[in-house]
Amino acid sequence: MTAGRAGEGDGRGRREGTDFIRAIVEKHQAQGTYGGRVETRFPPEPNGYLHIGHAKSIVLNFGLAEEYGGVCHLRFDDTNPLTEDMKYVRSIQEDVRWLGYDWGDHLYFASDYFQRLYECALVLIRKGKAYVDSLTEEQIREYRGTVTRPGRESPYRDRSVEENLDLFQRMKAGEFAEGEHVLRARIDMAHPNMIMRDPVLYRIRHASHYRKGDDWCIYPLYDFTHCLSDAFEDITHSLCTLEFENNREIYDWILDEVGFTEPRTHQYEFARLNLDFTVMSKRKLLKLVKEGHVDGWDDPRMPTIAGMRRRGITPEAVRKFCEMVGVAKADNRVDMGKLEFAVRDHLNRTVPRVMGVLDPLKVVITNYPEGREEELDIPSYPHDVPLEGSRPVPFSREVYIEADDFMEDPPEGFHRLAPGREVRLRYAYFITCDEVVKDPKSGEIVELRCTYDPETRGGSAPDGRKVKGTLHWVSVAHGLPVEARLYDRLFRVPDPEDVPEGQDFTVNLNPASRITVERAVVEPSVTGAEPGTRYQFERVGYFMIDELDSRPGSLVFNRIVTLRDTWAKRVKESVRDGVVLGDRAEGRARIEAVEGDPAGGAPGAPGAPGTDTGREERDRVRRARPELAEAYRSYREELGLAEEDADILSGVPELSGFFREALQVHHDPQGVANWMVNELLRETKDRPLSELPVTPRTLAELVALLAEDTISQPVAKEIFAEMVEEGGDPREKVKERGLEKMSDPDDLRPLVEEVLEAHPQEVDGYRGGKTGLLGFFTGQVMRRTRGKADPQTVQRLLREALEG
Ligand code: ATP
Ligand code: MG
Repeated sequence: MTAGRAGEGDGRGRREGTDFIRAIVEKHQAQGTYGGRVETRFPPEPNGYLHIGHAKSIVLNFGLAEEYGGVCHLRFDDTNPLTEDMKYVRSIQEDVRWLGYDWGDHLYFASDYFQRLYECALVLIRKGKAYVDSLTEEQIREYRGTVTRPGRESPYRDRSVEENLDLFQRMKAGEFAEGEHVLRARIDMAHPNMIMRDPVLYRIRHASHYRKGDDWCIYPLYDFTHCLSDAFEDITHSLCTLEFENNREIYDWILDEVGFTEPRTHQYEFARLNLDFTVMSKRKLLKLVKEGHVDGWDDPRMPTIAGMRRRGITPEAVRKFCEMVGVAKADNRVDMGKLEFAVRDHLNRTVPRVMGVLDPLKVVITNYPEGREEELDIPSYPHDVPLEGSRPVPFSREVYIEADDFMEDPPEGFHRLAPGREVRLRYAYFITCDEVVKDPKSGEIVELRCTYDPETRGGSAPDGRKVKGTLHWVSVAHGLPVEARLYDRLFRVPDPEDVPEGQDFTVNLNPASRITVERAVVEPSVTGAEPGTRYQFERVGYFMIDELDSRPGSLVFNRIVTLRDTWAKRVKESVRDGVVLGDRAEGRARIEAVEGDPAGGAPGAPGAPGTDTGREERDRVRRARPELAEAYRSYREELGLAEEDADILSGVPELSGFFREALQVHHDPQGVANWMVNELLRETKDRPLSELPVTPRTLAELVALLAEDTISQPVAKEIFAEMVEEGGDPREKVKERGLEKMSDPDDLRPLVEEVLEAHPQEVDGYRGGKTGLLGFFTGQVMRRTRGKADPQTVQRLLREALEG
């Protein structure tokens, strides 16, 4: 057992009563049901590698034990001799340890219980609660009946105890062939729960077991083994996934009939994890491996723990993800974006930044002296990460930039390098592009010739002039060539198993799930770094040096995750200054981008708030979706929106749709845009726009109410806040509560007088020259009208009263 490390944001620490399982445990602790003991188990079958779904079960079981000072057992549920293997036992142990858990002395194997289980079966036989059946497998199925039709009793059901004991012992001794006999519980063939219709407990298998060899030729089935193993180990809370809900009855029946008494173990079911854009069953994962769709169980695209580890995902992120998903009773699908969010969140706080260029384009800085080079000291962490460190990065006359950071003929809204434009090389200098050199034959751009401004060393200009874009770069002479493997989602659709008749889930594989970039360049500071070291390549993504394929002098970098969620369905990402949105449409944009261009917009935009990164992302979205580029143009030229508003409203597909719909209701482009950009966007920090109860219509109505002068700005804000919380129609709200603006001077004059009478000192002050007090008086009147007064009218009346 790991000591209860309380950790912040790493998926560790006590989460008292936060879910129904913990509520049950709390109750037992309060009642002293198990004398304060909390004992759980993680019971994998060693027939494959663990996946992210298992991680949920591990985090729950080990986490619970950790939180309540208990223990969690690692038990291999290894009673099927046909599929199990020692290599899986080893990999599972490695995976559980990697996740940060330790079972201490509590390592068990169900196969070690074969003798005890056999004896429990004898107990049932002697009680007349189990019998040897000699129907064939097929007959047994047929006799079982259906949900609507009761089953039939086997003709062997009433064999005597002696005959049953004799036959069962001879089954064990190997006297019969497979399928000749089975041992069944004797319960009720008309039971409404089909599982209770005399379930099979043991069957004959003449097969060698990976641990027990040929000691046994009868093997107990899951329903018999599992509950008894729990009881042998004194488990208190046996947690399993929902599909075992119907098995709970047999769990209890067996324990009661064998003679385990309270307080004994009980089973509780929680929802299994289903993750979009991947498959999870071992059988399907095995198919991917066997058919060569992936390179093995630990392929970085696999949802296996081994795959995630190889890719560079951290155990902290996996635990955090499991914590975010939580434990619930209803089945649900979880978006892959959630896992990626947890990964980014952890890496952002822990890994150093470096610069790396995936698709190098050479820039020659013509006014930088030949042969000169300088070292820039560059911080390895941004301001908002509480880690310190920097590294020297050489700068010289020739640098590489990302090829797609340059456009010869940039569309409006592209804010990176172009002919005649000035941009910043991150932490270095401003450069201006003077000349584009092309291959005379292919016309391909092979080099840019630029000039730099020596006054801008460090990345800012003494005259305060601004540039629109900041690019990452690597010095040509010093850069380290590396291989980069850009991993993306393994499947191109959220539910890969949803396929037409006659096809299988592999048709949904994402052909661009791995793109190998053979000639990327990174800054020389990574030379000599150990395999397994993680970095953020600024503006590009998080990477880890591959532990298997890297060699000294030829490093391979796995992309762990992009810097932002370009698939974005639910995950919150910064749109502007850390403002976030979840967006299905953007996900589509991304898929289109992947299809259209195999590099799939690989270099993501940096996510640091306050940079112009959201802008780049929006540029990219517009490039991938011409209709949004067109929207940008029309917002600027036809609707006359401010540049920034047009950019945001056309760069985020979800916002653009919302904006257009709102204009249908109330055609005041800048008015609606202001509310969307200044107010609505802020509300999407914690939840996606699609989940806000504000609709295009209600927002447009609100803007109209203001424009019609029906309500004042403060009332509008108040109503907006309410709409965000509970939705609703602003017109009705105004009517219901009489919030119409008060602009009739005759209504307001008495209030103005009241305020002035109540504050004689301030009145003297004002008359003595402190005219700034006008704001104070206005506020007092506004408060008395609960914000309904028209401030201009109030001020006019105040001036009249004070000066007249
Ligand atoms: P698969 O269905 O992928 O083959 P399994 O259920 O057969 O997996 P086991 O080795 O029997 O795999 O599972 C060990 C434990 O992990 C069980 O308690 C099981 O309930 C749990 N588990 C398996 N898959 C998930 C999942 N997707 N979400 C949560 N828990 C899971
Ligand atoms: Mg299983």
